[in-house]
Amino acid sequence: MRLSQYFLPVLKENPAEAQIVSHRLMLRAGMIRQQAAGIYSWLPLGWRVLKRIERIVHEEQQRAGHIPLLMPTLQPAELWRESGRYDDYGQEMLRITDRHKRELLYGPTNEEMITDIFRSAIGSYRDLPLTLYHVQWKFRDEMRPRFGVMRGREFLMKDGYNFDLTKEAALHAYNRHLVSYLRTYERMGLQAIPMRADSGPIGGEDTHEFLVLADTGESEVFYDSEITDLRFGDRQIDYADETQCRAVLEEFTSRYARTDETHDEALFAQIPEARRRKARGIEVGQIFYFGTKYSEPMGAVVVGPDGSRQPVHMGSHGIGVSRLLGAIIEASHDERGIIWPEGVTPFPVGIVNLKQGDAATDGACEALYAALAERGLEALYDDRDERAGAKFATMDLIGLPWRITAGPRGLASNTVELTNRRTGETEVLSPADAVERVAAAYAPVKAREYPVAVG
Ligand code: ATP
Ligand code: MG
Repeated sequence: MRLSQYFLPVLKENPAEAQIVSHRLMLRAGMIRQQAAGIYSWLPLGWRVLKRIERIVHEEQQRAGHIPLLMPTLQPAELWRESGRYDDYGQEMLRITDRHKRELLYGPTNEEMITDIFRSAIGSYRDLPLTLYHVQWKFRDEMRPRFGVMRGREFLMKDGYNFDLTKEAALHAYNRHLVSYLRTYERMGLQAIPMRADSGPIGGEDTHEFLVLADTGESEVFYDSEITDLRFGDRQIDYADETQCRAVLEEFTSRYARTDETHDEALFAQIPEARRRKARGIEVGQIFYFGTKYSEPMGAVVVGPDGSRQPVHMGSHGIGVSRLLGAIIEASHDERGIIWPEGVTPFPVGIVNLKQGDAATDGACEALYAALAERGLEALYDDRDERAGAKFATMDLIGLPWRITAGPRGLASNTVELTNRRTGETEVLSPADAVERVAAAYAPVKAREYPVAVG
């Protein structure tokens, strides 16, 4: 993408309405525009990151064997009356009446609708286990939408639902989700710690929230510092293997880590004092096992191996796709702007032309652009007629992990500069070597990809 032809409305001033750094940087980097309280347009740069995140979520869900579909944003009130949640959900639910006076709602979550889909098609244990998921916009009429996309009213969520014959099988689905989430967040450059939590309006017995530690987080958390040493990494795991998935859950929940809703002072006090941590965190996902809470009232039953009809055991599992942009920026920025982890960056590399209009420099930049494209790396090429300082400031603000700077002086000896956004380190090397270096930096990112049809 050539910056002269792109739409990147960066702001020079700090927007007064933004209280936290991620909101401020998303506005300044021209990623989002607020249209109403908690409702945003995703401008081209923001849209790219959103799609990167969504893609990783799809890949990891499908790697775990979960099946994508797409349910609508609007739902009939009738379904929610069946579960009893139409009246229980309260003011967060946006209720809508159509021209025929039929009651609808903008879905805040989809347990009822997915249960309806399931019961319409499945009647035998032979069709189990089954996990369906989608990535779709939700609406919750939050009392205090704030912090930009972090607490929006309209927001993008991945929500998945498992259907199993027994509690044991449903707990395997729970563990499988935990594993897939660990891998998902790490691919985004995040450490998200599973913490025992409270189930809220979704209901159920077992639930973990995934929290990214950040001072601006809305949740109060308590944990044993040893938990932050754990990494999932690139381990190979067979998602069908119950023992393997349970072992990961046990490992990642082996240390004390709880939100304030379930915090237990007495248990916490048993941790050696030097390891006790009280901090704040951003909730980026949550998994639930809730058994037959929806399948029983809604009649989602299957005929079991013994011929008896039994309600299926279910759970639901959410990832805050749009909130993740805020969480990643909170975890990865400096005073000059965003620092995207390589897994989610809107463009892998930027090219800065120090002397636009100089035939040799323009030619070298075009050649770099083409060589990177050949490697599957779409550069953001700053080909504007701007001074170098302004170009660097834009690149630093939007946070691409790598920058190649080309100017007449270096090119005279066939060199460009390659700068790492995170460390600030700059290397002088030939254009061909710069391309090699950037390609090598993205090799591990590409190695973690998983082929999916959608995303
Ligand atoms: P919170 O406690 O932050 O209000 P929640 O527990 O009600 O969230 P869930 O029902 O668990 O939310 O939804 C799954 C995920 O969707 C959450 O973990 C969070 O990352 C994301 N999410 C929830 N509410 C919002 C919101 N208002 N704006 C953006 N993302 C949200
Ligand atoms: Mg939650």
